[in-house]
Amino acid sequence: MNTPLLGSFGAASSGKHMLGALQHIDLPMRRFKELEEVDYIIVGVGSAGGVLLQRLARAGFNVVGLEAGPFWDTERDWVSDEAGSHELYWEEARVTGGTDPLALGANNCGRGVGGGSVHWAAFTPRLHPSDFEVYTRDGVGTDWPITYEDIRPYYEQLELEMPVAGPAYYPWGHPHGYPYGPHPMGGVGDALIRGCSALDIPVSIGGPVAILSGSHGDRPHCIYRGFCIQGCKVGAKASTLITHVPDALRSGAEIRDHSMAGRVSLGKDGRVNGVHYFDKDGKGHFQRAKSVILCGYAIETPRLLLNSACPGFEHGLANSSDTVGRYLMAQAGTVVLGRFDQLVRMYKAPPAHALTEEFYETDQKNDFARGFAIQTVGPLPLAFGKQMVAAKKAWGWGLRREMMDYNHWASFGLLGEILPWPENRVTLAEEKDRFGLPIAHVSFNLHENDQRLIKAATGKTTEVMRAAGATEVVHEARYAHLVGAARMGSDPRTSVVDKFGRSHDIPNLFICDGSIMPTQGSANPGLTIQALAARTADYLITQGDRVFTSNDRDMTTQAIRRDLAPPETWGKGVPRIT
Ligand SMILES: Cc1cc2nc3c(=O)[nH]c(=O)nc-3n(C[C@H](O)[C@H](O)[C@H](O)COP(=O)(O)OP(=O)(O)OC[C@H]3O[C@@H](n4cnc5c(N)ncnc54)[C@H](O)[C@@H]3O)c2cc1C
Ligand code: SF4
Repeated sequence: MNTPLLGSFGAASSGKHMLGALQHIDLPMRRFKELEEVDYIIVGVGSAGGVLLQRLARAGFNVVGLEAGPFWDTERDWVSDEAGSHELYWEEARVTGGTDPLALGANNCGRGVGGGSVHWAAFTPRLHPSDFEVYTRDGVGTDWPITYEDIRPYYEQLELEMPVAGPAYYPWGHPHGYPYGPHPMGGVGDALIRGCSALDIPVSIGGPVAILSGSHGDRPHCIYRGFCIQGCKVGAKASTLITHVPDALRSGAEIRDHSMAGRVSLGKDGRVNGVHYFDKDGKGHFQRAKSVILCGYAIETPRLLLNSACPGFEHGLANSSDTVGRYLMAQAGTVVLGRFDQLVRMYKAPPAHALTEEFYETDQKNDFARGFAIQTVGPLPLAFGKQMVAAKKAWGWGLRREMMDYNHWASFGLLGEILPWPENRVTLAEEKDRFGLPIAHVSFNLHENDQRLIKAATGKTTEVMRAAGATEVVHEARYAHLVGAARMGSDPRTSVVDKFGRSHDIPNLFICDGSIMPTQGSANPGLTIQALAARTADYLITQGDRVFTSNDRDMTTQAIRRDLAPPETWGKGVPRIT
């Protein structure tokens, strides 16, 4: 039986209505020749790369996506099982250091078509308007080169394209409603509501989360089995693999999976002209292109730029500012676990289904700037076991006893804004990967504001857990969601790309992933990353062929192209707002 992308999925045709979005593609994928100069190479077909690929292909450009990981066949490759889903993560070697080293691996980026959107929990809050002017308002971090109003149309578009389920009125930041109605509550959500209500803290119920609360196009609604960060074999959770990639392929894009980009090539004219990459067997290739867009995530994008050092850019491509790799951010992601006398059954819902952003903004009464959110987290048994080892030092029979008690525990995650610091950075390590490429060294240090914020956020989350009725409360300190390390800004001396993601140094090199975020707020970053990708796509489409030929930097605002959304956007289901 062939992979459905390359040939027919013959045996299953009679049950086609049962198959996922990918299996509905009945066209062979277009193949470009390496010597053929394509319009765009996109390095990394993840959250941002998937959206860009779809938009640019739909607008008529010749686009190739190079993806280091596999092209998942959701029907065959995925299982609803914790241990069976480890291949979804980028587990290649990295070196971690600094005073507060980050755990790297399963808690960071994805690997394979869809990238991190395959294993995300799919919480999709927007950033707040204040996030775009953190320095002006609070004197910390930096301002973005764009405002909330610049990204707002793209939030609205992506919320429809995923689509997002949530309440009709979401009160924080810029108040808004969601296209699909909220999900019913699981046991952890019930606990969060109880705790918040007892303390008079407003809480959002049933979203915002990019999980279907009603069927949509050929995708079924959620069946509440809780395997969301294992990929969601059902197809109810949005990932670019099922929301944008099918339309990209139908529109003529090519995705080369198992293709690891090792170096971006710079021509004598100061413009990039293609990408060197390795295939599954370690064989080197070179694909020519008129323009290159890096979408490899907050660690791999700076690593690729540093590995692409060349005459004129001895310290890394597009790095005249010495900011490539710097200002890396992770959100504080401490998990607070509470034991209840009654059954909670954490697994019986998507982990992401309720949250409060009541503590998101700077509060003058605090001894720190910025804030945090509190969200539901529903670890499955293996993750819960690891948390019990970390939080209670449980081991042996003690760990077994905790594990047998799993159904009585609830867990909340805080999401706290750690500020951007120049010494939190990605550099190259001495060690090399299997392709001979230097691997990333990631250095991370908490500063005083970060430490104060984490302490206060852990205290408040514990208070909510106790108010919910927990008889025992423990926590595991951890981090979530890496962004930054190739940030956007107006000043070429202090940032890597401009407000459209174009490198300040090289006119036909773009970056479009979480690495360009100058600050991160306390919102999960995935929606913002995909919205920025749709915005960059509109800019590139508005610019047309000028990107390929001109060194002039046209900063004219892009036209907003709503007609480029995937057709499934207007599928069935129970849309509430059109
Ligand atoms: C367990 C977990 C849960 C999460 N839950 C949420 C959530 O609920 N909400 C939310 O908003 N965010 C969540 N996130 C974060 C979210 O997944 C990421 O922020 C987001 O996917 C990052 O998007 P990106 O486009 O920057 O990179 P990715 O989506 O990671 O895409 C990068 C892609 O580039 C490929 N790549 C990298 N280097 C190369 C190279 N050299 N050559 C070729 N290909 C390359 C990778 O294989 C990958 O597919 C979660 C993350 C984790 C780990
Ligand atoms: S709980 Fe819903 S979204 Fe999560 S894996 Fe199951 S069907 Fe998918």
